[in-house]
Amino acid sequence: TRLRALAPWHNGVGRIDTHTLGIVLPQLSSLKETLPVVQQILALNQQLMSLQGQDAPVSLNIGLSLFPNDSHDAQRLLEQALIAVDQGLHQGRGAFEFYAVGMNTQAHDRLQIQADLHKALKNDEFYLNYQPKLDFNSGQVIGAEALVRWRHPHHGFIPPSDFIPVAEACGLIRELGAWVLQEACRQAKIWQDSGHLRGPMAVNLSALQLRDSALVTFVNDTLVAERLPAHCLELEITESVLMDNPDQAIEILQALRQLGIGLSLDDFGTGHSSLHYLSRLPVNKIKIDRSFVQRFEEYPEDAMIIKTIIGMARGMGLKTVAEGVETASQCAALKKLLCDELQGYYFSKPLAAEDFEGFINNRLASGEFTFSDHQQRTLLVIDDEPNILRALKRLLRKEGYRLLLAGSVREANALLATHAVQVIVCDQRMPDTTGADFFRGLKQTHPNIVRIMLSGYTDFTAISDAINHGEVYKYITKPWEDAELIETLHNAFDKYDIEN
Ligand code: C2E
Ligand code: CA
Ligand code: CA
Repeated sequence: TRLRALAPWHNGVGRIDTHTLGIVLPQLSSLKETLPVVQQILALNQQLMSLQGQDAPVSLNIGLSLFPNDSHDAQRLLEQALIAVDQGLHQGRGAFEFYAVGMNTQAHDRLQIQADLHKALKNDEFYLNYQPKLDFNSGQVIGAEALVRWRHPHHGFIPPSDFIPVAEACGLIRELGAWVLQEACRQAKIWQDSGHLRGPMAVNLSALQLRDSALVTFVNDTLVAERLPAHCLELEITESVLMDNPDQAIEILQALRQLGIGLSLDDFGTGHSSLHYLSRLPVNKIKIDRSFVQRFEEYPEDAMIIKTIIGMARGMGLKTVAEGVETASQCAALKKLLCDELQGYYFSKPLAAEDFEGFINNRLASGEFTFSDHQQRTLLVIDDEPNILRALKRLLRKEGYRLLLAGSVREANALLATHAVQVIVCDQRMPDTTGADFFRGLKQTHPNIVRIMLSGYTDFTAISDAINHGEVYKYITKPWEDAELIETLHNAFDKYDIEN
């Protein structure tokens, strides 16, 4: 009915299959005219619709093909639109996609992958890699994640991001998922016995596997067959399990928890689930999505998100894992934020089974991994004028400091929450506050940080007050002398090192 309202002139709405509706818009003659209609349809996304008396959010994807550009043939136009929908589905909910030449070959590749997947299971072409997870406090390996790999006889290595969605689309994910679970449990048992693995083995579950209540029995049978205690298995799920039948999914997850299996919520922060449902998910761990981990040093908003997720998780009694940790400074910042576990290339890539054993043997021989105490010299500059930030960035490029830039005190606080900072340069005059006020607070919260004031005005009273109260170490007037500024910063870092 809602779609018909958009095409009232013509009975142009029909059902193609259970999940697909077609809409014909014959009166539109150009691409430009199409877009407003697309937007109106997409506006239905996430609206509530009453289904059997229950409010359910609508989620939809759109694929379009245009007459006469794409084809003159009605059947062909429909096929092309369906291919475009399929493409959009890879991008998540609410995507829309025009049919494009080349999609057909991609659709063909998918069909080929689908055909080959069936053979691959029979021919033992799959194997698992294992990526260690590390405990932030002890520095010990406390678990591993099993990740499936496909060695194709002709095309070589095919990444899971290429074949998992196809396996899901053609239903083969159940068989593949069952194989992964059995193989991971078999390996986990061997490593529990040999001492190579002390914590749980994590296995990824597709949302489709959670639609089947036989899953609980299957998981239990596998544990019994492999003689693996339930607490040695952890299942990783994503928010997408809540998409079409949340109540059933929650019931199955509860049954799994009752077996004693750990559950962790993967890729957290990227979905659109409501907090209401999330709070009902019986998980005991949250994995912070790699995208936040990789951006948070550059974007204060991502740092705030990570901080909030960890705070929320702690409040709910859940553990947090940071995934995709690639650098020492990410690692140090996450430790500071009280994240519990980490996983990522910084520590180890996913490894073949033999390599995982070698890795653990090495670590046991050389003492466990310790986090380096060496901190990169980090300077935080706060100024509401972008020009000043840019000029300082240029000036300090060769000095080897890690430079954090903030346009306001709010941004500065977000950066301070996630980074070890030794020296701060702050502008005295800012729209929301003064440098002197900021430093006064900082002296209480971060007494060790060396504070330098930047002042464009001959604002003597404020500055001399601040100096007299021991709130600033030095002040520099704008415009500054480059050499003098560089030397002041150098001395400030030395002062920090001597005092700490
Ligand atoms: P995921 O569950 O989020 O797995 C983590 C992915 O991040 C893995 O990619 C891993 O190799 C990669 N990764 C780990 N550390 C780093 C890092 O420091 N930097 C970067 N850039 N990447 C890192 P992979 O193995 O390609 O797997 C991709 C996705 O495929 C997985 O994402 C998971 O959703 C899916 N997948 C893998 N194995 C299975 C499986 O057995 N069953 C199901 N249902 N899905 C699986
Ligand atoms: Ca995972
Ligand atoms: Ca993940």
